[in-house]
Amino acid sequence: MRKTLFSATGLVKQFHELRATDNVDIDVKPNEVHALIGPNGAGKSTLVNLLSGLLPVDAGRIVLDGRDITSLSAHQRVRAGLSRCFQVTNLFKQSSTLDNLRLAIQAHEGNNFRLFGKRDAEQALTTQAIALGARVGLVGDAVLQAPAGSLPHGAQRQLDIALALAARPKVLLLDEPMAGMGPDESARTVELIRKLRQDMAVLLIEHDMDAVFQLADRISVLVYGKVLATGTVEQIRSNPRVQEVYLGT
Ligand code: ADP
Ligand code: MG
Repeated sequence: MRKTLFSATGLVKQFHELRATDNVDIDVKPNEVHALIGPNGAGKSTLVNLLSGLLPVDAGRIVLDGRDITSLSAHQRVRAGLSRCFQVTNLFKQSSTLDNLRLAIQAHEGNNFRLFGKRDAEQALTTQAIALGARVGLVGDAVLQAPAGSLPHGAQRQLDIALALAARPKVLLLDEPMAGMGPDESARTVELIRKLRQDMAVLLIEHDMDAVFQLADRISVLVYGKVLATGTVEQIRSNPRVQEVYLGT
């Protein structure tokens, strides 16, 4: 058994009468893509918000690489190695793609650039920004100079992932990265996530089951705030309870 890199145990989140997260246990191993699936309203985004620190938990414990991060702020969790992308993109839409990349790198590594003179620092930052864009498939002057808001939807999602990568995460949380993408964009995103897995672990929320079955090392099924089952693609596909409540509908 490979060791666990990231885990949540006994997570609870109550919204008035509704228990959106009901005693959830989930764990992610190094270089694993762990997919989280479930019907609309199952509590997937709530869980990601709890894990990333956007929402405080009512109960439970979150551990990243041996460190209890339950009481850390969202910002501190990013510094600890947990990055997320948003279902709604988080870009500076008027600024160029390149400037978005530069800003993200500067936010995480600003101190490193103080070692350089101003001109060299600008140059080093731009070089890193171009490399970061290339990592997610954003290449060429046309793309890099365009305002981020003018990029095709798929490219905006790629940029969103790049911004999360700027923090050099150990674990990347992706909430429906393929939402609104056409087949070509989805296929490219599958390839991108496959490549990212070489360097980090990914917790992937995704409705596109083809993508999930292609990518996931393990799948957890969330229903009414509870984990119904966790297992390999084959285990989940053949689980009668999963078929009944989710795949069968
Ligand atoms: P999913 O992402 O699986 O579609 P969500 O986590 O968005 O599900 O929502 C789970 C449940 O929690 C839904 O019933 C939703 O209406 C409810 N919910 C989500 N966020 C809030 C909130 N901030 N306040 C009250 N209810 C919420
Ligand atoms: Mg959601």
